[in-house]
Amino acid sequence: MKKNLTVLGSTGSIGTQTLDVAERLGLTVTALTAGRNYKLMESQIRRFRPKIAAMADETAAKELEVRLRDTDTRVLSGDEGVIEAAKLETDTVVSAIVGISGLRPTMAAIEEGGRRIALANKETLVCAGHLFTEAVRKNRCELIPVDSEHSAIFQSLMSGKHGEIKRILLTASGGPFRKTPAEELKNVKKENALKHPNWSMGAKITIDSATMMNKGLEIIEAMHLFSVPAEKIEVVVHPESILHSAVEFCDNAVIAQLGTPDMRIPIQLSLTYPDRADNPESELDLFKAGTLSFERPDLEKFKCLAIAESVAGRTDAAPTVMNAANEAAVALFLRDNIGFTDIPELVSEAVDALGALTAGSIEEVLERDIETREFISKRI
Ligand code: NDP
Repeated sequence: MKKNLTVLGSTGSIGTQTLDVAERLGLTVTALTAGRNYKLMESQIRRFRPKIAAMADETAAKELEVRLRDTDTRVLSGDEGVIEAAKLETDTVVSAIVGISGLRPTMAAIEEGGRRIALANKETLVCAGHLFTEAVRKNRCELIPVDSEHSAIFQSLMSGKHGEIKRILLTASGGPFRKTPAEELKNVKKENALKHPNWSMGAKITIDSATMMNKGLEIIEAMHLFSVPAEKIEVVVHPESILHSAVEFCDNAVIAQLGTPDMRIPIQLSLTYPDRADNPESELDLFKAGTLSFERPDLEKFKCLAIAESVAGRTDAAPTVMNAANEAAVALFLRDNIGFTDIPELVSEAVDALGALTAGSIEEVLERDIETREFISKRI
């Protein structure tokens, strides 16, 4: 098993669970990065003693530095500090920063070459999929998915060859509003949207699950991870979140991965692969799970999913613009500045206005991201 680990986004939902798994597996932590939560970062540093810790927020970095005077950990600050930490020599980099902020640090980690990238940050693949996978190939890195659905697909694909794939069945819980009538969605509050039925996650992905944009982002993520066109990826609503996705092969055999909804299972595999390690928690009890059910998604009601399906195959800036507009709109919704159904409206307007621009380099992707955020702020 690879021994040394860097965690980008260590104070988040994926980051903290990764560190729990790393502790259980006895891994060594090389570097940790976070945004502004210096108190949690301090306790993680005392627990894992990394060489470097970076905080994107400069005030938080200063505070952390003062608190860590009695340790050997070097504190770096700002976006450039996070990038420097990502480059430090290590075996595996877990990419778990939320949103496009993860793009430059993850690319920097890839460009160091020869390491495993355990990828949770789906937004980077949505914004810069081809550039990202090309950089992985060129720098001889290994890309292992952390997202539960993509980990399930990754595991299912071991049963056949790429040319034998007929369809990928990407499962979705349907989120907290699966049964809410479409006309009631405009009145839902963030407190309702933040209550995911099965998973405990960061705020942004929880809202994305409620709008089903999360599944749209995951279609694009799967296209890039597994080199499969959008037409071969079918979203299947599965409210119990036990079957984490499946692959249908040309002989109509469907191979799936099942498990309790616990992110520590796919996180652990991303660290131990090609081996598996014991897991004392989260055993699946099929008798307790009882019935597993499956439905088609409602694309009229969940407009974000429909938008994502429509931009998935585009090679212009449309996926980048969709992602940026969604990040900006979700942040506005979380601050109570817009309503729930304004999210797809704003995303759709941004894609229509800016989607046809080009996004052929990381610089262009970042420019489109900024332009889209400006577009959204002018619309409010
Ligand atoms: P959280 O919001 O819980 O955590 C985000 C992490 O990113 C925190 O450590 C945060 O630091 C850090 N961060 C935020 N902004 C910046 C920035 N500008 N620069 C550097 N670091 C920053 O998110 P999640 O853990 O839920 O999700 C992380 C990624 O994983 C997302 O892309 C998500 O889609 C994906 N994912 C998450 C799953 C889950 O179960 N949570 C499942 C599958 C995928 P701080 O808090 O200190 O500010």
